[in-house]
Amino acid sequence: MAKDEAQADSARRKMVVESIVEGRKMEAYAEHRTKEMNVCWICNAICYRKTPGRHVGDKWICIDCLRQLKETLDTLDEWEEELAMQKEARTQLDSDLG
Ligand SMILES: [Zn+2]
Repeated sequence: MAKDEAQADSARRKMVVESIVEGRKMEAYAEHRTKEMNVCWICNAICYRKTPGRHVGDKWICIDCLRQLKETLDTLDEWEEELAMQKEARTQLDSDLG
């Protein structure tokens, strides 16, 4: 093998090795990030450690969904009343129509 060829060959090898190393680094990084990652159980948003959220049982829920959940729970009485009225109206309508 000529000297130039040998040099080109070793440069190629170095490049291949470097790209493998980079690949491994990316994998390690991805794995590391996965550990810090939470997926919201409700909206499926992918969130990292700094995103506010709570574990509820073994599920993680982001703050946005928790807010919506709270709002839903806060208005649950109103909602139930509304449903009860609708049911009453339907019952009355049924008896009116015979
Ligand atoms: Zn969410």
